[in-house]
Amino acid sequence: MLAWQVRTPGPIAHRPLERGSRPVPTPAPGELLLRVRACAVCRTDLHVVEGDLPVHRRPVVPGHEIVGEVVDGAYGFAAGERVGVAWLRSTCGTCAYCRRGAENLCPYSRYTGWDADGGYAQYTTAPAGYAYRLPDPYPDAEVAPLLCAGIIGYRALVRAELPEGGRLGVYGFGASAHLTAQIALARGARVHVLTRSPEAQRLALDLGVTSAGGATDPPPEPLDAAILFAPVGDLVPVALAALDRGGTLAVAGIHLTDIPALNYDEHLFQERTLRSVTANTRADGRALLDFASRHRLRVAVTPYPLERADEALADLAGDRVTGAAVLVP
Ligand SMILES: [Zn+2]
Ligand SMILES: [Zn+2]
Repeated sequence: MLAWQVRTPGPIAHRPLERGSRPVPTPAPGELLLRVRACAVCRTDLHVVEGDLPVHRRPVVPGHEIVGEVVDGAYGFAAGERVGVAWLRSTCGTCAYCRRGAENLCPYSRYTGWDADGGYAQYTTAPAGYAYRLPDPYPDAEVAPLLCAGIIGYRALVRAELPEGGRLGVYGFGASAHLTAQIALARGARVHVLTRSPEAQRLALDLGVTSAGGATDPPPEPLDAAILFAPVGDLVPVALAALDRGGTLAVAGIHLTDIPALNYDEHLFQERTLRSVTANTRADGRALLDFASRHRLRVAVTPYPLERADEALADLAGDRVTGAAVLVP
């Protein structure tokens, strides 16, 4: 089968993603063999390929927003059934974090496309206990971005503690942000998008957000909550300064450049809160997919044939993708 893999991470300009041919994988006990129908391209893939997140095995096939078709029915899934595979691949189930419902913090967790081969290939495997059933109305390419961009955005929105009908700031407007903004709007929020990309600002306004401005512009009103999607630490003080008293900033990304020095009075006092978001639990995944089945989200997709995965990743690195890039074998 065709598969893309990373052996030696490095700057995307050096083409660290290699195209190769591999045997179709054999599922381990508890795993499903899936024929990949679509795999969305996440910024985390870029972090793995470029080495911001050190590779856990090499070579590794990236990709963790996988829509697959079950090849052989097993573990309660029928042959031909459509399932989703996300970043969280497995957890230990017995540590203190797993036991208290915080499996996203499990120190023994494993990740798709990092600890195990992912979806930049024609076939992949996934533990059945971590596969999701997918809402019907979405075509493959549109449901794929929900599996990380959607789920992580959903968790970030929960972590940002946006009050009912509150004012939300969204910093950066890629795949995850454009879904999260729609969820917040559906819940009656006023949403202000702050991003440097004019195309992303247009997409945001088209989706019905309240305002769209530049990444460091002050929003038109103080924010009850904000989510930082751009992996840019320099925006942390910008977003904290935009919060109203008691507001919360959640940092959604797995990787962030260094945060500059904060000024207590300007950025934190008056009980403003800064918090991170780490992966997701399966309960987050099910909650997001359930929300998406009840509210038809508009998923902006730029499809690429699987043969052009390197180009999709380079376009993401160069901010040339509007919405989500999705590989289609
Ligand atoms: Zn655990
Ligand atoms: Zn992701």
